[in-house]
Amino acid sequence: MPEQPEKWPRGAPWTLTHAHDAGQVASIRCAQCNVTRYYKPLELREVIGNITIDEVRNKARCQTCGSREWVSAQLFHATGEQAHAIRFRRLVEIRWEKRVIWRDE
Ligand SMILES: [Zn+2]
Repeated sequence: MPEQPEKWPRGAPWTLTHAHDAGQVASIRCAQCNVTRYYKPLELREVIGNITIDEVRNKARCQTCGSREWVSAQLFHATGEQAHAIRFRRLVEIRWEKRVIWRDE
């Protein structure tokens, strides 16, 4: 479950922007591969838009096994010790590839 401020109105979507502002870390885990990857919410937003962590989970696919079913995602506040230990998966580049499509008339 995302950790939201007490005063946050119930039902209002807690998006990746909010998570960033609150200093949260996003983690995406594949239970099948037993791999957890950590992301900065702002970089996830770059890639998939300003959505909630539940929507992130629905869109996420494990890069190792390709599974969607085994993937879970959450936001959390890293404790001091954790914050130093976490190795983030950083966004390097979003590459838009040019595709040429022909049609015979
Ligand atoms: Zn996997």
